[in-house]
Amino acid sequence: MASREDSARQALIQYLRTDRLLGLEEIPLRLPERSAPTAEAGTRTPNPTDAAEKGERLGALDEGQVKSCTRCGLHETRNNTVFGQGSPAARLVFVGEAPGFEEDRQGVAFVGKAGQLLTRMIVPMGLSREEVFICNVLKCRPPNNRDPSADEIARCSPYLYEQLSIIEPEVIIALGAPAAKTLLQTKQSIGRLRGRFHDFYLSGIEGVGEAIPLMPTYHPAYLLRSPGEKGKTWADLQAVMKRMGLPLPK
Ligand code: URA
Repeated sequence: MASREDSARQALIQYLRTDRLLGLEEIPLRLPERSAPTAEAGTRTPNPTDAAEKGERLGALDEGQVKSCTRCGLHETRNNTVFGQGSPAARLVFVGEAPGFEEDRQGVAFVGKAGQLLTRMIVPMGLSREEVFICNVLKCRPPNNRDPSADEIARCSPYLYEQLSIIEPEVIIALGAPAAKTLLQTKQSIGRLRGRFHDFYLSGIEGVGEAIPLMPTYHPAYLLRSPGEKGKTWADLQAVMKRMGLPLPK
């Protein structure tokens, strides 16, 4: 159990780290601090101390900054911020676009219809929602679920970068165009990006620091409208399973 001093120190460090990121709206110029690479992508064993420390840092980021954030106009219309949830030491992180009606009401990511489909994507991978981490580019709901603006993304995405630098996942899945375009800093369409791994740099600068493999795929809300694309999405998820050393279904 961490002492109150440890928690306060952790919260302060987290505050300073994110503040530094938030000061730079376009490119977070911080080199990632990553643990020594493990032998193979599929072999990382979760370490309980590591998970507890990451959980504290994520909690400090949420409680100390995200919940009280007023960096864009969305704080005026939100009911709840939606930080994201799951394992702080997740090997796999799913990144969506922004909370919808149900997520804003409950303060939990992907719990509406798209969230139910996301669960039906995670379970066949041999994983549970609790084992992965699920979050969004934006932590507040845009009114009427409109598309996030470039300004909202620039102001909010440092929180996402910070979450990813704490969790240090082995693989990231970007759900839909806004997540993929934000993390890969590209204007290419999701149809062109999906289906192969891209290098994601926590530093925000291509080639600087260690790269995390990122697989863009279709957003579950799009799949609800276009179920014919589910096969391609399943192929993307299977590529991730292979990369993580998870057993593929026969
Ligand atoms: N769509 C998203 O992108 N995120 C959610 O949390 C819910 C729906």
